[in-house]
Amino acid sequence: MGYIEPAPLKDEKNPFEAMMSRFHIASQILGIDDEVYNVLKSPAKQVIVSLPITMDDGSIRVFDGYRVIHSNILGPSKGGIRFDPGVNIDEVKALAAWMTWKCAVVDIPYGGAKGGIQCNPREMSSGEIERLMRAYTLAMIEIFGPDRDIPAPDMGTGPREMAWLMDEYSRTQGMTINSVVTGKPLVLGGSLGRTEATGRGVMVSALAAMEKLKINPYKATCAVQGFGNVGSFAALLLAERGVKVVAISDLSGAYYNENGIDIQAAIEYRNGNNGNLTGFPGAELIEGDEILGLEVDVLVPAATEDVITSQNVEKIKAKLIVEGANGPTSAKADNVINEKGIMVAPDILANAGGVTVSYFEWVQNRLGYKWTGERVNRRSDRIMKDAFDNVYRTSQEYKVSMRIAAYIVAIDKVAKTYKYRGGY
Ligand code: GLU
Repeated sequence: MGYIEPAPLKDEKNPFEAMMSRFHIASQILGIDDEVYNVLKSPAKQVIVSLPITMDDGSIRVFDGYRVIHSNILGPSKGGIRFDPGVNIDEVKALAAWMTWKCAVVDIPYGGAKGGIQCNPREMSSGEIERLMRAYTLAMIEIFGPDRDIPAPDMGTGPREMAWLMDEYSRTQGMTINSVVTGKPLVLGGSLGRTEATGRGVMVSALAAMEKLKINPYKATCAVQGFGNVGSFAALLLAERGVKVVAISDLSGAYYNENGIDIQAAIEYRNGNNGNLTGFPGAELIEGDEILGLEVDVLVPAATEDVITSQNVEKIKAKLIVEGANGPTSAKADNVINEKGIMVAPDILANAGGVTVSYFEWVQNRLGYKWTGERVNRRSDRIMKDAFDNVYRTSQEYKVSMRIAAYIVAIDKVAKTYKYRGGY
């Protein structure tokens, strides 16, 4: 590959630039062709729609909806749909590309995509959310399909929204097609183990990394930032394996208990408290940001993008960071993390358990068959462990960080596949 000047990091908090910066480094190390580089750096398709929705008070509000297909080189594109006030095209583009790399790292036959709607689901009624989800599905009817593009949940969406998507899509086709979306409720063809899958993969990655760092899980402490679907299950499963989870956090603040937090109790409290931890009695309330600088062995950022940046990276004392969220670390913070000798199990590896079990869900739907939870967990644990070992080996071979190694594994796979398939 001829030398291609890296895109300068103009805005540290732009997730697409953050993705491109790592993509660029790994591509240079691999020496991929300019042609392949140029194909992989640009999303294959970007769709932006305006969705007029009747709100409960009778007014009409217009929402912006996005779907970006970064690549379908490895197979139909796959990726979640995010409902969040901060959704924008650069974020969706980055998240779509991360899906491409993530699927390649765990070696499942999907390309990458992501969708999003700029909205605040916390301030919307169930009826408003349903109308929005159905309108979005209809607007994307040419995009979605079990062999084309397969959505799933992401921040702000869950099984309920996936059920509406499946129903709306099926209505337009005149038959039930449940393989068009994953992360569905169990009764609609959802897979056992899907809800916990991302958190479970975080746990498997954390234990694999602790083994390399010779950290005994029974003597280890951990802080988990974010207590949604990913963070809460990661915390629960790590605690079940002996790790002392001393801090958790959500939008309401951070909660610290040096003796370890009872995670099951925290989940039950959250479930009965409008989905947040406000007033959780099992720990002391500390400033939300403090969670990143705690004296712990393992830090799990499981909230959102760019929480570890050049502004706060110096504060981190953990020996290991396991990224449950997508893009929690800015590209500028990478260098400091490497200099400090902190190991990172990067997002495109550590949080790939979700899409892995999504793949199992899709396979089961297409077979018209249901696997046991035991089979789902056994197979996804194996995939996550193998992927971790492969990335670790690659980091040793190329003498690079685990993050760059994960990009190397992914880009190499997609580039080779592209070579076979060819362009015009
Ligand atoms: N939204 C999840 C992710 O970022 C899951 C995607 C999927 O299952 O397709 O990995």
